[in-house]
This record gives sequence, C-alpha cells and structure tokens, in this order.
Amino acid sequence: MPAAALCAHLASDELRELAIPEECVLEAFHGPALALPRCRDCGRPALLELVDASPERASRLYSLAGLEPRDAELFLRNTRHGSCDLARRARELQALLACAGPRERLLAIDPATRQVLRAAARPAGLLLPTGPWRERRLGAREARAFDGGAPET
Ligand SMILES: [Zn+2]
Repeated sequence: MPAAALCAHLASDELRELAIPEECVLEAFHGPALALPRCRDCGRPALLELVDASPERASRLYSLAGLEPRDAELFLRNTRHGSCDLARRARELQALLACAGPRERLLAIDPATRQVLRAAARPAGLLLPTGPWRERRLGAREARAFDGGAPET
C-alpha cells in the first residue's frame, strides 16, 4: 500500500489557511499540538504535529503529513465518545500515527491567528524531534533555514 500523501493544496508553498477546529485537536500544548485538520479545498485530512514549541519563537513550527480519510474517520469514530480508557486511546493514537504518510512539510503557524506564516518542504534528512511537547525543539540551524534566514532574536 503506498504511503498516504498530502493533497496538492496542503502540499503547496502557498498554503496560508489551515482550518484547525477544536474537535480535530487531539492533543494540546498552549494550542494545538496534534491535530487532524482538513483541506479547505478538497476535504482531505492531514496530520499536523508540533515540532518546535520554543517559547521565544513568535511562531510555532509543525510538521504536516498525509492521511487517508478512512484512517482519520476510524480514529475519530473510535475515540469520539470520550472513552475514559486511556490505554485504548493510546493504542488508537499509535495506530493513527503509523497510518500517516511521511512528514512531508513544515509549517510556521501564528499561535494567535492560526494563520500559516510559511510553508515549505521538509528539508531532506531533517530529523524531527519527538518526546514531550514542551521539550520539542528543532535544531537552531534547521529552524533558521526554515525561517528563511530571518535574523536571530
Ligand atoms: Zn486539498
């Protein structure tokens, strides 16, 4: 089975609007940390994951990966009813993450407006941080490259 891919709209450098309704936010850390937004043009879902939560950054950095609609729907259906079985939810979440395609894109999102400030392909070989949301940091060099050479603040 081919890996899930993003639709052309979400994979565009011109992406500026990404609807992140509260019901698609799976985990939060001062805003969305893991979410299943849908494309405004074609409705295809994607997996949005926080990759840099540095408080000194004006924007928050996320990765974006493709997701098959049936996988997103299955997860939402299985977890919608607020099951208090945390172990089951963790299993469902692992299954969902395993279904997602490669983290193809990096997005800088304004935390106040949720506007996409910048969208770009994930640089080849760029490792994305894992672990607790609050500890996630993209390497300074990679973050600066993604920011387009913006001066350090
Ligand atoms: Zn689309």
